[in-house]
Amino acid sequence: MSEHLLEVNHLKKYFKTGKGTVQAVDDISFTLDAGKTLGLVGESGCGKSTTGRTILRLLEPTDGQVIFEGKDIAKLKPAEMRRMRQEMQMIFQDPFSSLNPRKTVEELIGEPLKWFKVHKTKAEQKEHVAKLMDIVGLAPRLANVYPHELDGGRRQRIGIARALALDPKLIVCDEPVSALDVSIQAQVLNLLKELQKEYNIAYIFITHDLSVVNHISDDIAVMYLGQIVEKAPSKELFTNPTHPYTKALLSAIPIPDPDLQVEQIPLKGEISSPINMKRDCHFAARCPYATEVCLASTPELVDRGNEHFVACHLF
Ligand code: SF4
Repeated sequence: MSEHLLEVNHLKKYFKTGKGTVQAVDDISFTLDAGKTLGLVGESGCGKSTTGRTILRLLEPTDGQVIFEGKDIAKLKPAEMRRMRQEMQMIFQDPFSSLNPRKTVEELIGEPLKWFKVHKTKAEQKEHVAKLMDIVGLAPRLANVYPHELDGGRRQRIGIARALALDPKLIVCDEPVSALDVSIQAQVLNLLKELQKEYNIAYIFITHDLSVVNHISDDIAVMYLGQIVEKAPSKELFTNPTHPYTKALLSAIPIPDPDLQVEQIPLKGEISSPINMKRDCHFAARCPYATEVCLASTPELVDRGNEHFVACHLF
């Protein structure tokens, strides 16, 4: 049995379209331990959200395995999957559109408890919701207000309380702070960190913003067109970025440490189409170092030591 909470092996998620096959997630593998955070970073369209949804089996994988607590979730029967769902939750980018506007805060946070028949009486559920509100920092007076009466930060706290309601072991956080003001982003990130420490929850933290993921991740995986191109412990990735795409992403953000000298590679052009991709380096069209070999074969993710993996023919 795997000692990891989550093991993703050669996961693929393809979509058939009229124009061809979209290889949204194309053979990715990683592990995640209890109480740890993996940041999944990349531009829009790189497959990071599809990866999160496929891990939770909100989308059926095309191939590969998702082993959660030693069980291959693709093989679970509906009743077993329903039980497993309690342990694997999601926090969405836009709390407003993911919340029913006709329900109050108390009703919204109580929904997962109701779906899974956690309590026998309404009074028990009410008490549980009050506790969840307290945990995520929502004042008791907000129990009967509607989401549109709250600011973005408080709405995201509702999303976090809903995700916490069933005592999950894993939460996929899909761009959870992207829609929030910078000052509120920090509050929500701190809350997520505190909750992780308190309840030993593992996070997959999906974001396009490397500067956000640095604060919360133990490890970071950089995705480009459905594949992981670099993966390393967070500090190692920031001090020794290696893949040209990672360097390009880092070039776009201010580095707080003046002693850190990161080669500047401006990111030019758009991400290519993920339809019917060739077996090349998918970053070749935007990479200043591309050579013939980069157009002829896909580089494999290779361990360069210090748990630092890179997929690039340069190394
Ligand atoms: Fe650039 Fe080639 Fe490395 Fe791809 S494999 S990142 S094209 S140098």
